Amino acid sequence: MPKSSLCLTMQHDFFEKMERIDASIRQAQDIEMMMSDVLQTTLETLGADRAWLLFPCDPTAKSWRVPMERTRPEYSGTFALGQDIPMSVEMQQVYRESLQRTEVGITDYRKEGTAQKMAAQFSILTGMQSAIYPIVGKPWMFCVHQCSHYRDWTAEEAIFFRWIGSRLADGLGCLLFYQDLQEREHFVRDLLDATTEAILGVDLNGAFTFANPASVKLLGYKHVDELVGRQLNDTLFKCPSTPCCSNQQPETNPSQLLDKVFHSNNMSLWRADNRCFPVEYWSHPVYRKGSQTGAVITFWDITERQRSEQVILHQAHYDSLTNLPNRFLSLDRLAQLICEAERASDLIAVIFLDLDDFKKVNDTLGHDVGDTLLVEASHRLRHVVRTEDTVGRLGGDEFIIILSGLSNADDALPVVENLLNCFSTPFVIDGRELVVTATEGIAIYPQDGETSSMLLRNADSAMYHAKDAGRNTYSYYTQSMNLKVARRLALEEQMHGALERGEFEVFYQIQCNIETGQTIGAEALLRWFNPALGHLSPAEFIPIAEQTGMIIPLGNFVFEEALAKTAQWQKQGNPEFLISINLSARQFRDPRLLGFITEEINHSTVDAKYIVLEITESVLLSSRRTIKKILDAMRQLGLTIAMDDFGTGYSSLNYLREYPFDMLKIDRHFIKNIKTSPSDYKLINATISMAHALNLQVVAEGVETVDQFNMLKELGCDIGQGDLFGKPVAAGDVLV
Ligand code: C2E
Ligand code: MG
Ligand code: MG
Repeated sequence: MPKSSLCLTMQHDFFEKMERIDASIRQAQDIEMMMSDVLQTTLETLGADRAWLLFPCDPTAKSWRVPMERTRPEYSGTFALGQDIPMSVEMQQVYRESLQRTEVGITDYRKEGTAQKMAAQFSILTGMQSAIYPIVGKPWMFCVHQCSHYRDWTAEEAIFFRWIGSRLADGLGCLLFYQDLQEREHFVRDLLDATTEAILGVDLNGAFTFANPASVKLLGYKHVDELVGRQLNDTLFKCPSTPCCSNQQPETNPSQLLDKVFHSNNMSLWRADNRCFPVEYWSHPVYRKGSQTGAVITFWDITERQRSEQVILHQAHYDSLTNLPNRFLSLDRLAQLICEAERASDLIAVIFLDLDDFKKVNDTLGHDVGDTLLVEASHRLRHVVRTEDTVGRLGGDEFIIILSGLSNADDALPVVENLLNCFSTPFVIDGRELVVTATEGIAIYPQDGETSSMLLRNADSAMYHAKDAGRNTYSYYTQSMNLKVARRLALEEQMHGALERGEFEVFYQIQCNIETGQTIGAEALLRWFNPALGHLSPAEFIPIAEQTGMIIPLGNFVFEEALAKTAQWQKQGNPEFLISINLSARQFRDPRLLGFITEEINHSTVDAKYIVLEITESVLLSSRRTIKKILDAMRQLGLTIAMDDFGTGYSSLNYLREYPFDMLKIDRHFIKNIKTSPSDYKLINATISMAHALNLQVVAEGVETVDQFNMLKELGCDIGQGDLFGKPVAAGDVLV
């Protein structure tokens, strides 16, 4: 049984124990060891049964736990070491009071209201407790208990207890502070090790004092030691003049700017293997007590960033299919060339090149073939011009070619011709030969425009002019071309409301049986007289009506008029009078077309078999499957279907087999030459035989002379239409 009655200071080894406590606190490198030593000595010196520490000492907590305890063996394991003990209200009160007072708290657990339950559980009779406040973290509670017998704690014991508490506070404070520092250092070290950003420390002389693993790796060294001590200037900026550095280097060497914050978004650094790489670079000066001690340098590799920036830049400026400059870059280059040409008083030729009938290739052979053709065409175009000239793709099948440094407009001519000639060899795609031609329009700077957009617009107008002139050719821009554009606008404007104003009229051109010479019917042909524009040809206004959609009401008007007149003519004397009506591709896209025709026939006395619907190949190209359905439905209604203008498009025999045609109209351009051109004669002959073999009737358009008539008769052509029989006339002038 330990003695407590003996005056403390009189214990023979008291001072030795004090010294032991002091030494354990002074020399401790580990909190656990220190606490265990101090508690053991406390237990022995005070002759107590238990000495323990509670952390954190929080009187509001629901439970408490003891991190360290020293108990005489007979009471071992009885306290809260490593366990969560529920905090009773009484205990909360004991701790709250202890935290508030500076002197040691002495508690007699035998008294009412002093956590008697807990005291009984842990055999506590009396105890001392003292709050301790280390410089780091929350307060702790330091306690001793007497369990074997009740005792009064002497003032001397309380002072000694308090002394240990305050020494413990110092010791714990230091160790906790050190532990905290160590944790922070580890954390910083982990950050420096884990980051992919290079971080380097340099002193005022520009020598490296620190290098993180990322910097060692990025700079191509094997170990930190290879970098530390080296000179910043000789290591990172070794050879600024070497041409391998494609990046712009800052004007001043950054190693001379260590006293300032320095940043470069894009510069080159040298690696150990003597190669350079692009980085984003920062340098920050570092100060201690107001004086600069060095600098921290950070940088990261931007090779990937640069690569993706270049890809994005390329995508923004180049056409993804042909890899040619796109519209944006082409016009930008043109704008730059204009500035240079202005200074040098040179000329520039802007060539707008469009592939002829490219849409047909796309529609008939598919987009993959179309794409391959565009790529092949772009290669050929590139080969024709000099490397310094620009060939760009404006979109679709439209290309721009820019020739600069010309002394006069004719200088462009050889290139213009070579560009056309480069299409003279057929393209071979998927083993199939494709003959493709191109049409060009040329505008010259400065005479045809002083801005890139004006030059492009005028080259475009010239190209359209050349298309009208027959394709596979070129046209230089002239002022009058803009007049054409102006006329088109005027036409569009006047067409609006023209039907309501009664400006349209249907004319009829009779068709005769070639064998008998008898009139068998007529073709309905639309005429437009506008007070402002005069008489207008359908060749001019029908394409515009198709584009604006006006062809739908116009087509309906022609159908109604022609049917009403035919009903009259059939009653008046020719009950089998045939009426041919033209339908354009745009009308087939109108979902109401079939319904409209059915209704018109139902309300008319004209039988469907006397109605011929004329369609051109362009109708078949628009959407083959739906067109086939509509044509079959028309055939079901009993209508006759004729292929118009045969010989001008693909003249595909397949179409004649695939679709339900009853009639074939040979275009007037062939009939015109039937006498003079042996090849046209042969073609007409072959067409007639082939049509007859397919059970089709043949109509010859544009028969003007008796010679033509006789030859057609000889070839067995069934029906003739043309000025020889009669020009198109108003309904009142038709002789049935
Ligand atoms: P198309 O359907 O091939 O009509 C025949 C064209 O040849 C008519 O021209 C006619 O006047 C012309 N022609 C007939 N015989 C001769 C001749 O002996 N010599 C000459 N030089 N020409 C002759 P037009 O009336 O100018 O019509 C041109 C085209 O406009 C038509 O060609 C047709 O495609 C279109 N068109 C006319 N009316 C309509 C219509 O109501 N609807 C639609 N969709 N198109 C129409
Ligand atoms: Mg026709
Ligand atoms: Mg025709």
